[in-house]
Amino acid sequence: MPKKHLGQNFLRDEAVLQRIIESSSLSTDDLVLEIGPGEGVLTERLAEHAKKVIAIEIDGDLIGNLRDKFKDDPSVRIINKDILKMNLPEFIAKEFKDGKYKLIANIPYYITSPIIRLFLETKLPPTEMILMVQKEVAERIVAKPGSMSILAVSVQYYAQAELLFDVDAESFYPIPEVDSAVIRIKPEARSRNRDEAKKFFRVVKAGFSSKRKTLSNNLSSSFCLNKKEVDEKLKSAGLSPIQRAQELNIEDWERLASIF
Ligand code: SAM
Repeated sequence: MPKKHLGQNFLRDEAVLQRIIESSSLSTDDLVLEIGPGEGVLTERLAEHAKKVIAIEIDGDLIGNLRDKFKDDPSVRIINKDILKMNLPEFIAKEFKDGKYKLIANIPYYITSPIIRLFLETKLPPTEMILMVQKEVAERIVAKPGSMSILAVSVQYYAQAELLFDVDAESFYPIPEVDSAVIRIKPEARSRNRDEAKKFFRVVKAGFSSKRKTLSNNLSSSFCLNKKEVDEKLKSAGLSPIQRAQELNIEDWERLASIF
């Protein structure tokens, strides 16, 4: 019986699997990390195209079948662990010698944000992530100025994000309550400085603190500054005091982070 609390909706659509593989542009040099192989349908396709696939599955009840399925394929390694409880930097450095790997997965939706954050913030992020996520989350991640959210800013600060294609709920067993989409997240080649990132997100969180308020009001109340002072700072960053956080792009936030 699939376990709902582990986000177990297994992909049963051959065409979708094929599109994920095409979108991944795998070569026989590629090293792939998969989170949640489940019954191993995607794992199998990945192994046909990549040099090595390491698949991390939390559910001990699935491990026996997975190991059996890939017992004659030395390019596939199944690890029975919780992805959120691993020492990721150590694991990546050990398994992917030059630090180059792709993350390709139909991830459990209940931990979408922690997974994406983990891999964007780690010392050795993947060169590319191809992820199946809830459609609504995919749309929020790739949002443009006008409808940005903390999630969109958090991903786009580190990476280019693109929605590749939608996937119907009927493509899975059991059928989930939500539609899905496959996204590509391509981390920037230069990594972000930790202290700068901290400063950046302090300002972003302050800016988004109250949805109904203007940027100016949110920043002045979060930083305990008078509004006049905040408005001056906003103007010096080329922004208007009546703008709202969702209208800003990454460069706007970077300018604000250097001022506040
Ligand atoms: N890849 C399979 C497929 O496409 O059919 C299964 C995808 S299913 C949406 C998500 C998988 O992630 C499940 O097999 C589930 O047991 C596993 N999973 C859930 N939480 C996990 C975690 N914290 N670490 C590793 N795997 C996890």
